Amino acid sequence: MATDSGLSDFIRDIINEDNRTGKHQGRVQTRFPPEPNGYLHIGHAKSICLNFGIAADYNGLCNLRFDDTNPSKEDVEYVDSIMEDIHWLGFDWQDRLFYASDYFEQLYQWAVQLIEAGKAYVCDLNADQVRQYRGTLTEPGKNSPYRDRSIEENLDLFTRMRAGEFADGSRTLRAKIDMASPNLNMRDPVMYRILRATHHRTGDAWCIYPTYDYTHGQSDSLERITHSICTLEFENHRPLYDWFVKELGIFAPRQIEFARLNLNYTVMSKRRLLELVKEGFVSGWDDPRMPTICGLRRRGYTPESIRNFCGRIGVAKFDGVIDIALLEHCLREDLNKRASRVMAVLRPLRVVIDNFPDGQVEQLDAVNNPEDASMGTRTVPFSRVLYIEQDDFREDPPKQFFRLAPGREVRLRWGYLITCTSVVKDPTSGEVVELHCTYDPATRGGNTPDGRKVKGTIHWVSADRAQTAEVRLYDSLFTTANPNDVPDGVDYKVNLNPKSLESLPTCYVEPSLAAAAPGDRFQFERLGYFCVDSDSRPDALVFNRTVPLRDTWAKIEKGQK
Ligand code: ATP
Ligand code: MG
Repeated sequence: MATDSGLSDFIRDIINEDNRTGKHQGRVQTRFPPEPNGYLHIGHAKSICLNFGIAADYNGLCNLRFDDTNPSKEDVEYVDSIMEDIHWLGFDWQDRLFYASDYFEQLYQWAVQLIEAGKAYVCDLNADQVRQYRGTLTEPGKNSPYRDRSIEENLDLFTRMRAGEFADGSRTLRAKIDMASPNLNMRDPVMYRILRATHHRTGDAWCIYPTYDYTHGQSDSLERITHSICTLEFENHRPLYDWFVKELGIFAPRQIEFARLNLNYTVMSKRRLLELVKEGFVSGWDDPRMPTICGLRRRGYTPESIRNFCGRIGVAKFDGVIDIALLEHCLREDLNKRASRVMAVLRPLRVVIDNFPDGQVEQLDAVNNPEDASMGTRTVPFSRVLYIEQDDFREDPPKQFFRLAPGREVRLRWGYLITCTSVVKDPTSGEVVELHCTYDPATRGGNTPDGRKVKGTIHWVSADRAQTAEVRLYDSLFTTANPNDVPDGVDYKVNLNPKSLESLPTCYVEPSLAAAAPGDRFQFERLGYFCVDSDSRPDALVFNRTVPLRDTWAKIEKGQK
């Protein structure tokens, strides 16, 4: 059955079935539960689109809940960025902003309840010992020597753990389940640890903290989440979440797992992304090469393109890797409709139009977006000295090169036809530094009254009127499709792409861009989509290349070799 969004998948199938049988009286409530220990990435966007999208499809609600059980790694900086990114993606939790830390007292009381029921005990094994006792996938674990403490002793010790009588790591509270369970998560998992760390919300009120596994399911239950959607790695935690809920006799959400998003040529774990930031491999979480939401935003991605991408990749039960080219495709599709076309020259070559009067400037009409007439027109100034792209000239043009060459005629976009009459070279390096051309005054706007055919059209800017700008070109952060695929003992960072950022300090953009503000997006004709970077200042413009247009010439040239 198709939903409001037009999407259908196995999760929506489950919800349809629950609604048919009246399981929750048609109520649908989901949540997005980030740990505030890093910035959100494109994988989180998949989960956000899924949770908020499902709520919207079924007239339901989606909560935002911070699963903030690990004070040593969490920070308000992350909380704030996560909220900003979700809003930017176009979703809203209204008044349903929750924190697992708001449930600390309730969780504590439930822990006491489990102790009283003989289902939890205080264990004096240290972390290493707990690990040794746990066993392996092929061997059962061993019972802790503290497993059979009396309820009274457990209650006393747990109260004193909370009161701060014991050293960090010296004791834990563990669920009493089954040390021989084939599921390692069921082998008396730790529920509480002693940790003197200041929490970003509860400060120093607690010196014991609940584990993620003891917190997550009950938080869902407290919020009466009907469908608790998470990624596949939690599949074998589900029996534990269900165990807590059942032993406590509280509302039971249904957990549904889906495959996480993996993209090639990047890494997507917060731990790794944090490492890239901390060790200075990128300029920050919002470095335009990062797969973070704020990085993509700074790079020039639109929320619409990301939402569209998340809808297209769908949800499945098995892991796969999505080609980054699909994300870029979704972006081009969106920007093609909405980005103004402008002209910019990234690697300038000076062109003097010998028969155009010095000091004269002519304003030529240019269309802002051929895909959308409502975006109107603007004028671009034409003058005696211009810049064109170095690539658009070849002294010795190969076959199928239809741009400028000695004696050749080419069309200037929105301008005139020009013919190259001579070439000036640097006497020492032999590098072409300037071209001399003539223009045909009868060809204004690019037409040829005599009907002669001119194949090539190139972009250009007026040298006197152009604004200078810095342009940053990006390539993938890693050189290999799966950066994590390294031999034992080799760090994935060996796969970092040393050429992922190329900064061109002296580019020229048409004067209409003088007032462009950070976040503004454009298509630089023939070059790609670009946006104004947050480093940009009115007198020192900085653009990011968001994504290139497909380069047909590169393909032809490759085919020739
Ligand atoms: P990471 O593994 O990248 O550090 P995480 O799973 O620890 O991420 P959380 O803050 O726990 O990050 O994630 C919040 C939600 O986003 C969880 O429900 C998680 O399952 C989901 N999520 C995280 N990464 C992805 C991904 N790559 N694809 C889809 N969903 C994801
Ligand atoms: Mg997690």
